[in-house]
This record gives sequence, structure tokens and C-alpha cells, in this order.
Amino acid sequence: MATANVTKVDYYEVLSVSRDASDQELKTSYRKLAMQYHPDRNPDDASAEEKFKECSEAYSVLSDPEKRAAYDRYGHAAFQNGGGGNPFTGGGFSGNAQDLGDIFGDLFGEMFNMGGNGGRKASRVQRGRDLRYDLTLEFEEAVFGKEKEITIRRMETCIDCKGSGAAKGKAAVTCTQCGGRGQQRFQQGFFSVARTCSVCGGTGTLIVDPCMTCKGETRVQMEHTILVKVPAGVEQDTRIRYGGEGESGKFAGPAGDLYVVLNVKAHKFFERDGDDLHCVMPISFPQAALGTELEIQTLEGPAAIKIPEGTQSGKAFKLKGKGVPHLNSHGKGDLIVEIRVQTPSKLNKAQRELLRQLSETMVVENTPTSRGLFEKVKEMFS
Ligand SMILES: [Zn+2]
Ligand SMILES: [Zn+2]
Repeated sequence: MATANVTKVDYYEVLSVSRDASDQELKTSYRKLAMQYHPDRNPDDASAEEKFKECSEAYSVLSDPEKRAAYDRYGHAAFQNGGGGNPFTGGGFSGNAQDLGDIFGDLFGEMFNMGGNGGRKASRVQRGRDLRYDLTLEFEEAVFGKEKEITIRRMETCIDCKGSGAAKGKAAVTCTQCGGRGQQRFQQGFFSVARTCSVCGGTGTLIVDPCMTCKGETRVQMEHTILVKVPAGVEQDTRIRYGGEGESGKFAGPAGDLYVVLNVKAHKFFERDGDDLHCVMPISFPQAALGTELEIQTLEGPAAIKIPEGTQSGKAFKLKGKGVPHLNSHGKGDLIVEIRVQTPSKLNKAQRELLRQLSETMVVENTPTSRGLFEKVKEMFS
């Protein structure tokens, strides 16, 4: 099941509450769903665990007034974009045991045993590791979106032994060292200390005849191709999560997640500021003085800007809707074109003569910026 974070289900929908739900309504609904999907109650149901995580994530955001406000404003993007654009960067919900424990500490107390393996036998089954893939995009690909195939190498559950690690027809046997308890006891002075069994690693079982394919590791390294759907408007460091596409867990444990982290190449002409694009457009001194119509290249093709008579260097023109599409909503940013007036250089004799004639006819009204200065100087000495 590959769901990109950027297209994930709305948190309010996950908790089946309205957008103006009170804290109490959130809590009640979350409690009901969390009980229903709790992994302890659905031990072999990966989709229940996924639902459970989803609810917990939604509740962790909506129960926090600051995070809820950010979510209402920016949607899921509030917790994904690593780059600028909003002040809530990097505050994503990690879904790790610590977060879940915190929420459960509040809600359920000791109702569920969330506290580690305190004295119990270690489970052989482990969740696979999360994987990270750095995907570099051209500037335009980030702006317009792009589908890209990536190939990752990851540990997958061995098909031959179905993740048991044992050869065909052979099962794991009870560890002789610890008698299957997973722990060994040592006498240390007055105390008896329990330690994880060094022979079976605390699992209580041993594989005597390992599977030939995976050598008893229970997983094998495989190459896997994934189609990454980059939505339009993503920024540098945006993370796209593919649930369950990370490494498979040992002993057929649940898979971790895959995070595709985006790296966006710079553009030679445009610079990005959130969803606005900026560029600098040089024009000649006569063009600036007389006014002109310029054709400029936007990311979507040519567009015209009217430069009025007497335009100063540094003046910016806005082309509405010619910027980057907003991620997770409609509309686009703007393109802002800053004008740089070029002082003519390498003049020939005739041009120099024309400029001298122009200069001789110039009056203070012809230079609007220095006119202000001129007035101030006059005031100073009057
Ligand atoms: Zn195997
Ligand atoms: Zn043992």
C-alpha cells in the first residue's frame, strides 16, 4: 500500500469529526477508534495497525491548539515542508513509540501495556527500518510536478522460508541455553540479575537448519521499483512518505516506511520565494526612459510586460498567477520581474555626442530621484 504523505487523508476525516469539533469530541472519537484498531487487539492485521497510527497521528496534531491551527491553515503541508513558507517546519509526527506512549499515558493510563518488554521475552518479530531516498528534481519538475521511477534496494521477507529463517520442513527449536525463557539469570553478590540470553538474543528459540536462501536471516536483499508521484509546487526538502515501502521486518515483521526526500535544483534565471518566482530583467537606458513593451520568458512560455516611460532601475512588475502552483490547494503564486537599467558603455563618437547634447538639455525634473535630494540641499542652505 503506497500512500504519499502529500495526498493523505484529512485528519478530521480520519477521526470522523467535523472541522469545528471540540477538544472533548476529538478525544471521545479518538479513544473509540484507538481501542478498535489497537495492535494488541488486532495482532495479525497490518491494516488495523496502519489505521491505528493514522488516528494517533491525527489526534496528536488536532489535540494541540498550535498544531491544529497550522493544520487548518496549511493542511498536511504544515508538517512536511522542510523549506520556508510557514513557521511549522520539521514538526512532523514521527509515529514512534515515544509519541504513542505519551498520548496513551494521558488517555488510557495503564490500560494497555505500552511500556517496553519489562521482563518479558523479546519478540522475534521486528518492524523493518524506515528507508530514505534522496530524489533530485529539476526546478521545473518541482514547479509542475512529475512522475519518476526510482529503484531502491531493501531487505524483503524471504519467500522460500516465508520469513521463518528455517529450512523447508524444519521449525525453530527451543533455545537450550535459556530453556526458551529468553533470559539468563546471574548471581551478583546478593542479587540475582536477569540478562538477555546471548545465544538466542532473547527470543527463546534457535534455528538449527537455516533456510538456504536467506541463511537464516529471514530476509533477502531485493531491488524494488516505485513510481514516485511528485505533486506540483513541492519545495526543497519536502518529504513524501510511502507507508510500508521500507525494509521488511525480521521474521516476517511489518515493513518500515520509505521517505522520499526532494532536492530541487536551482534555476539559472528564476529564484523561488515560497510560491512566488523572482527574476531580474536588464533593459537599456533609452528603453527605460522612453518606455517599451518587453517580451519575457515565464516557466509557461512568453509573456509581455509594459514598461512605462521613465521606469527606474529596481522597479518591480508583478505577473499574477505566473508563479508556482500552491501545493494542496488551488491557485498559483506570482512572477515578480525586477528591472535593472543598464548604463550604456563602449559608446562610439556619435553616441557620445548625442548623450552630451542630451545631458546639456537635462533639467532637474528629468531626474526624479535627485530632485528630492536637490530640494533637501536647497532647504539646508536657505
Ligand atoms: Zn529464507
Ligand atoms: Zn536463549
